[in-house]
Amino acid sequence: MKSVGYKYPGGHQAVSDLSLKLGPGILGLLGPNGAGKSTLMRILATLARPTAGQVTWNGVDIAEQPNALRVALGYLPQDFGVYSALSAREFLAFLAAVKGLSGVEAKTRVETCLAQVGLSDAADRRLGDFSGGMRQRVGIAQALLNDPTLLIVDEPTVGLDPEERMRFRHLLTDLAGQRLVILSTHIVSDVEASATQLAVMAEGRLRFHGTPEQLLGMA
Ligand code: ADP
Ligand code: ADP
Repeated sequence: MKSVGYKYPGGHQAVSDLSLKLGPGILGLLGPNGAGKSTLMRILATLARPTAGQVTWNGVDIAEQPNALRVALGYLPQDFGVYSALSAREFLAFLAAVKGLSGVEAKTRVETCLAQVGLSDAADRRLGDFSGGMRQRVGIAQALLNDPTLLIVDEPTVGLDPEERMRFRHLLTDLAGQRLVILSTHIVSDVEASATQLAVMAEGRLRFHGTPEQLLGMA
């Protein structure tokens, strides 16, 4: 991201002059409500076009070629909804088809993703009977269907109890590997142990970027 800015049509400047270079690992994106985290994540997910600056992915400008990033992208938005009447397996099979996967490949990806989020045993239960934490894991499973190298997760722990939140932290750590996982939260404990890097936003601006140790050293 080079000098990225975003101004809403109404005139609100939600992101200002933000530059960041990222690689594999977990980036914890911290900041209070209204800091601009969701806006920035929508830009990175190619759902919003920056009104200033540039985002490049492996050297490609994503404003010009969004598909270069989309094929490598998994995204769990803040307002992700599930179809209550479907089982987890049915829902993921549906989304796999929507994403253009079919046949044995689709089946294999669905089972792999269910296993990755620890839902294989619950795969035939109705999503309407799932806990909030389980639903969020379904959200992660759908984001993993295309085996993305960039996984963007917007405030996934809102409304989860402490145990579910801990489980979620471990899951994201397992998923990081060679991926870049970007996790936004306003809860520091969600990311202080698991993130390899932290970015702190306030009023649309980047106030800090570095390791958790560096941030704690500043405190
Ligand atoms: P959060 O702070 O948890 O990210 P918000 O309350 O800021 O959530 O936003 C919730 C939804 O409302 C988002 O989809 C956002 O785009 C929209 N929204 C937030 N603020 C405004 C606004 N001033 N005008 C129009 N839509 C807004
Ligand atoms: P965060 O995710 O950190 O809570 P957001 O990116 O949702 O922050 O919002 C950043 C700022 O942009 C807030 O002041 C919010 O009210 C505003 N905003 C968000 N969505 C919209 C929108 N659709 N229209 C106008 N303003 C918005």
